[in-house]
Amino acid sequence: MRFPLALTVKIASHIVKHKVRKTPRFAMVLQLEPLHTCNLTCTGCGRIREYSTNLKDMVPLEKCLAVAEECEAPMVSICGGEPLIYPKIEELVAGLREQGRVIYICTNGVFMRKKMRDYLAAVYSPALEPTLKQLLDGKLISDKEADTIRKSNAAAKSKVVIRPSKWMYWNVHVDGLEFTHDLIVEREGVFKECIEAIKMAKICGYQTATNTTVYKETDVQELEDMFKYLSSLEVDGHTISPGYEYDAAKKDMVKRLGKQPEDFFLTRKMTRQKFAKIQEWGEKFTIFGTPVYQEFLAGKRELTCTAWAIPTYNVKGWKAPCYLMTDGHYDGYQEMLSKVNWDKYGVVDGVARDPRCENCMVHCGYDPSGALGTNYQRGDNWKNFAYNFGTKPKPYPASVELMNTAFNGVTIGKGHLSQAKAAINSPRAAMNGAQAAFTRKEEAHDHEAHVGSHCGTGDTSERDELLAKIAETKKT
Ligand code: SF4
Ligand code: SF4
Repeated sequence: MRFPLALTVKIASHIVKHKVRKTPRFAMVLQLEPLHTCNLTCTGCGRIREYSTNLKDMVPLEKCLAVAEECEAPMVSICGGEPLIYPKIEELVAGLREQGRVIYICTNGVFMRKKMRDYLAAVYSPALEPTLKQLLDGKLISDKEADTIRKSNAAAKSKVVIRPSKWMYWNVHVDGLEFTHDLIVEREGVFKECIEAIKMAKICGYQTATNTTVYKETDVQELEDMFKYLSSLEVDGHTISPGYEYDAAKKDMVKRLGKQPEDFFLTRKMTRQKFAKIQEWGEKFTIFGTPVYQEFLAGKRELTCTAWAIPTYNVKGWKAPCYLMTDGHYDGYQEMLSKVNWDKYGVVDGVARDPRCENCMVHCGYDPSGALGTNYQRGDNWKNFAYNFGTKPKPYPASVELMNTAFNGVTIGKGHLSQAKAAINSPRAAMNGAQAAFTRKEEAHDHEAHVGSHCGTGDTSERDELLAKIAETKKT
């Protein structure tokens, strides 16, 4: 089967229950943002720019669990910010599991291996040695880390940890192959860390998924290569969604990078061009999302937005109308459902009810529409059934060639920052004064010092200046 049976049945029965009860609106996936602190400052991320990224601004654990019960969504996507920075992330995952929910931890991958080492330390016994050997052979843990796992004390053993489960996915943010991904997250080495974390997760028995946002610059062939590579690692599923010009990110792009939204984000027409092959990908790779939503992305049909089915809860409350756009926050899910005029939003038959919705085709607005039969066409139920219960696509064969395609950035000395540094350090650049400018910035920006702390300032002036200096150097 393409997706685990228990999971598919759980979601299907949730839909059937509400259809029988004729519930007009109900939650399918809760987007839970316990905090907005992040260790990265990705280009285009609205979260770290719209909300406070101070670690003091967090949703308490008890509240997180209460809102999941309140909206009764069978799936919870823990996002943020970087959820692995949330101090009670282990307790949150355990609590949601006790509630019987399917959990996706949407992470940038940087702290995943640490969390998995905590798990290994908690469950260590000599029976785990073959796993440790595999991890050591793959250079996914160091000798020192293996020793720490072996010598775990009572405190490590009794720690609440994130355990592998068929109900839980690590959902790793991957926006392209090495060069592109590191450029988008504005830090070199992150792609490599994500891949190592995915490999470690597979060895330790976790389920893994990836989520990808497609931007205007995204190369379709690169996306396909990315899916091939991730499939060769036996990643269990992929979410792919078009980028969208939501307000906070749009303002940020204009202010910081001097870009216009249309330089960066996709219009509807462009989305359809980028996603023309989505159905083909759905056959070859384990793409999450209904075939109906895939048809919508490929421009073969219209759907009406059902943003209420994927509600977002964060430190300010229930965010309306959707994950991307903020017109208000509410104290309760039912209160939000009843007070928001949902007919004001979305695009119906190609006409935007709200101009801000005009170019939006994101999965959190439209994927549930495909599952809920909002724009039902004959045969849709069968299509969804056949897709979910169909055969899981085989992993793409691993090869050195494929790996070389994936690692096309800093690993082979072609990272965006390392290339910039090399250009700045050239004798000609030194004469132009660029070297001094770079040195100053390097001193002022110590990435390591930011790990785990408040880092979401959105300041990427270092990279922007470097790229500008390169352009200057090339001209002279
Ligand atoms: S990882 Fe990137 S996209 Fe995700 S919250 Fe952090 S800055 Fe935003
Ligand atoms: S179409 Fe729906 S999901 Fe998209 S911005 Fe509008 S309300 Fe939000």
